[in-house]
Amino acid sequence: MKVGPGYRRLMADADDRCLPLSVTLELGQACNLRCVHCYNFDRELSRHPDPARRDELSEEELHRVIDEVRVEGALFLTLTGGEPMSHRGLPRLVEHAARSGMLVRVKTNGTLMTSDRVERLARAGLRAVDVSLYAATASIHDAFVRSEGAFDRTLTGVRNARQEGLEIRLSFVMSSANEHQLPSMIDLAHAMEIPFSVDTLITARHDGTTSSSLLALDGPALERLYRGPLAPFVKPTRRGEDRIACPCARSVCGIGSSGDVYPCIAAPLPCGNVRTLSFREIWSESPQLRWIRGLRNEDFEACSSCDHSRFCRRSSGTMLTDTGSFTGPSRFGASARCAEAEIVHRLSESGT
Ligand code: SF4
Ligand code: SF4
Repeated sequence: MKVGPGYRRLMADADDRCLPLSVTLELGQACNLRCVHCYNFDRELSRHPDPARRDELSEEELHRVIDEVRVEGALFLTLTGGEPMSHRGLPRLVEHAARSGMLVRVKTNGTLMTSDRVERLARAGLRAVDVSLYAATASIHDAFVRSEGAFDRTLTGVRNARQEGLEIRLSFVMSSANEHQLPSMIDLAHAMEIPFSVDTLITARHDGTTSSSLLALDGPALERLYRGPLAPFVKPTRRGEDRIACPCARSVCGIGSSGDVYPCIAAPLPCGNVRTLSFREIWSESPQLRWIRGLRNEDFEACSSCDHSRFCRRSSGTMLTDTGSFTGPSRFGASARCAEAEIVHRLSESGT
């Protein structure tokens, strides 16, 4: 499950063949935390504002969806939410997917990973967890997720996961609230000998609200990070001739908690619902998915002629959420990918 050349080859082959090798499935919208940046919906509200999104798949339906995506070729299943650890059926779902031959990982805030729960999940066949962390200091993390004691519970959960031999990755999402913490967060990951990923972008929410973007890093903050702890990432992210389109709708697919199939879980473009159509029908016949598969570089008008494109971490899902355009550039918010790509390109050329 680690990202190595073998995994990349597999994904590239699936991309060519439009095989949904990697599927992300939302188990529900419920969560025990109220992160200020949550992309699901504004967690100031107690539940999702859209009644349709509150009509969530039952456990029985989730099992059926797992069977359907497996038959279509899915090998990597990521369970997300909300907080998937709060779903009562999680051990049964993990076991079902693992028995059918899928490698299962869970995206979690880690606070509910008690030793009993993690032991049960490991026995069920869970392979990996991605754990979100927003600071190396408890008070900053707790303020961000609006739950006192969350930092300690998350780190306890991480230790429990390690005890059970699960693969762990820490996910750092950077904002104006924790920019100064990144060096200590990286030190913490190194001290625990756990790999980490860093995301510098806060997107709009899937409920259409945009207040989360107020936390986004501005240009000067991004530049400080790329001159400092993110200096190792000052390099091209793609070759000029590479496809601009991401693996959305080709090797990657997302399924929302109420059954909508998306090109990817970050691209909330409904392409059909597994309650009314089989996954196979949606994957092979949805006009939206077919349109995405047919996109060529020149269809991404601004990006195909952009000087910074080799340094850009653009994702079409983020573009769609932030600007409403799947093929457009990233010009939303101060920390949009366009600003980031310009900074990384400039620093790379100056050898800084
Ligand atoms: S833990 Fe995840 S799902 Fe829960 S509020 Fe935070 S970002 Fe949203
Ligand atoms: S920097 Fe902006 S315009 Fe250029 S490739 Fe990235 S998203 Fe497109």
